[in-house]
Amino acid sequence: MKIVGLTGGIGSGKTTVAGFFRDLEIPVYIADDAGKRLLNTSSKIRENVISLFGPEAYEGNSPNRKFIASKVFNNKDLLEKLNRIIHPAVEQDFKNWLQEQSADYVIYEAAILFETGSFKKCDLNILVTAPQKLRIARLQERDNSSKEEIQQRMNNQWSDEKKTKLADFTIKNEDLKETRLQVEHIHEEILKAGKNC
Ligand code: ATP
Repeated sequence: MKIVGLTGGIGSGKTTVAGFFRDLEIPVYIADDAGKRLLNTSSKIRENVISLFGPEAYEGNSPNRKFIASKVFNNKDLLEKLNRIIHPAVEQDFKNWLQEQSADYVIYEAAILFETGSFKKCDLNILVTAPQKLRIARLQERDNSSKEEIQQRMNNQWSDEKKTKLADFTIKNEDLKETRLQVEHIHEEILKAGKNC
């Protein structure tokens, strides 16, 4: 089964686009959700996260997300170390999930796909883009987060220019109707390409 990576900067609309693929009955795996779930359930991850940040990182078996977020917020090195703990577990979880799917292809959605090199494990990759101003406005509305916080998170991700060069398809997510049409077009292209991609 083909694996199609789906990524985009924060607030670009990855999850919205993933929903449009789901509407076409394509199974979608959301790596960030899996990471959050595994942070709660994997004792190996818990041990490693405590080694990295200290015992305050967990309250009993539950991760102290605010504490962890505050540690990685301004520290790229710690963020990378945290990703290196969670990433292999997500990869294994995805492999298990994949075995249960039956479709022409599946979508693997991740906020950082090119940055981690995971895009190489996908047969094709889709990038979702939107103008930065729109992304900031959407996130402010969705999460009530500050402009500075959003900007800081954007700084940890590659620019769209850099990612576009590696993507097989780019979706411009401004008008939702247009976005859905782009998804339907890409869906047809993927089906047409069959095993040759
Ligand atoms: P994150 O990186 O935070 O996970 P994301 O890239 O998955 O975000 P979404 O959650 O899909 O982005 O979209 C961010 C917000 O913008 C959501 O509230 C969503 O409903 C809204 N949104 C997405 N696309 C559009 C659009 N084309 N027009 C208007 N609102 C949109």
